[in-house]
Amino acid sequence: MNVLHVSAECYPIAKVGGLADVVGALPKYQNKLGITSKVIMPFYNNTFIKKHHFKSVYTSTISLGKVEFNVKILTLEASELGFELFLVDIPTLLFKDYVYSSSDTERFLAFQIVVLDWLLQEQQKPNILHCHDHHTGLIPFMMLQSVKYKSLRKIPTVTTIHNAQYQGWFPHEKVYLIPEFDLTKVGLLDWSNSINPLAAAIKCAWKVTTVSPSYMEELKNNANGLESLLSHESAKCSGILNGIDTHVWNPETDPFIIKNYSIKRIPSGRKANKEFLCKEFNLDVKKPLFAFIGRLVGEKGADLFPEIFNTALQNNKISILLLGSGEKEVEKKLEILKKTHKGNYNAFIGYDEKLSHIIYAGADFLLMPSRVEPCGLNQMYALRYGTIPVVSYVGGLKDTVIDIEENGFGFVHQKVTIKEVVKAINRATVFYKNQVKFKKIRTQIMQIDHSWNTSAKAYINLYNSLNKQL
Ligand code: ADP
Repeated sequence: MNVLHVSAECYPIAKVGGLADVVGALPKYQNKLGITSKVIMPFYNNTFIKKHHFKSVYTSTISLGKVEFNVKILTLEASELGFELFLVDIPTLLFKDYVYSSSDTERFLAFQIVVLDWLLQEQQKPNILHCHDHHTGLIPFMMLQSVKYKSLRKIPTVTTIHNAQYQGWFPHEKVYLIPEFDLTKVGLLDWSNSINPLAAAIKCAWKVTTVSPSYMEELKNNANGLESLLSHESAKCSGILNGIDTHVWNPETDPFIIKNYSIKRIPSGRKANKEFLCKEFNLDVKKPLFAFIGRLVGEKGADLFPEIFNTALQNNKISILLLGSGEKEVEKKLEILKKTHKGNYNAFIGYDEKLSHIIYAGADFLLMPSRVEPCGLNQMYALRYGTIPVVSYVGGLKDTVIDIEENGFGFVHQKVTIKEVVKAINRATVFYKNQVKFKKIRTQIMQIDHSWNTSAKAYINLYNSLNKQL
């Protein structure tokens, strides 16, 4: 079986969040399981691209309305990544030093058109097209409805929703950009009077998955407007929990961290990483270190952070370290807090892959007070590195973290309020005092298996069920 993943992000080529981690790992594990899994994504102007050589395999032009673009597809051999990689080069649209911007309609529509144009002329077509998030949401529609792609109609499509908050809306006036189709079918593109690529994918893809079973259930009640559509289409929807790439995320070999450690050498390895963080960020190594890594947006509870931190730091018993960027108001408040709680709190506002790995290896607790968490990879990385998660009871966090009081290994709060989060932090602080218990849990969590093995198989079973329908 031949599977082509279509995505805007893929680690290590271009990463903004969890989508990249998934698309950089799942194909690798699928290839190990005996199928052929490849990835196609945009060609951005970033460090990875500058450091590698690519071979051109396709040259053409496309039209978006009346505007013509020269396009190319480049490739990188499978050896380094564990899967064959194809990159869509549209210099004026995609080759930028960012992945997303505020006007992406033309960029990602052009990307999707090039993918399908290329497939039209390929001798060996994929048996499955696996699309990720709204940036690739029009592919299932175009394959079914655009006159030009008639011959691709029988290739089954799977759409995975990594985050339903973002849907790629654009106004109906731009419908002419989509390759010709019978306009009586425009309803398949529409949701609440605009063109909604994610809604179109939910309607047109052969199967729809989300990145955890709990998120799938939650979406029926809270999906940024798509609740009734998801309930209506529930027969073809399922939740498959993300895994983690245990080769990239391995404290024994991770090249980013200060000192590597195996399960047998946890205390010395983690001590060295914690000491580095405390020195670098002027924190007290004797206090329990709570950390947050991620996007500073409402979904992650970020608007509450300044007050949560302020309250939790009142009694001087803990340290907090934050790595993230996002809403400017929140960033500003988090910067100001550095002065108020000097020596107990610090923050790096920005994106830093290396630092994130050191934090997973050196912090004692990882905070994730998310309001929405489709799967959440951070808590799984934390577990793998021996950092105890303090999380809200939502989405994938429900599926992966069990509270210590229920024979589990983390601290779970039901609501995302300042009071509840601080209460969970306080429970963790008390727990930290009993170092025997603390170390026992740390060893236990490092042995939980969240690798992709199980979930990569679940996706293959899903693909097989579709190929049987043909
Ligand atoms: P989401 O995709 O919603 O942002 P996930 O938990 O699924 O959240 O994945 C987040 C990924 O992005 C993790 O690999 C995390 O370590 C990484 N990450 C997020 N913010 C940063 C940052 N500022 N610096 C480094 N890595 C980050």
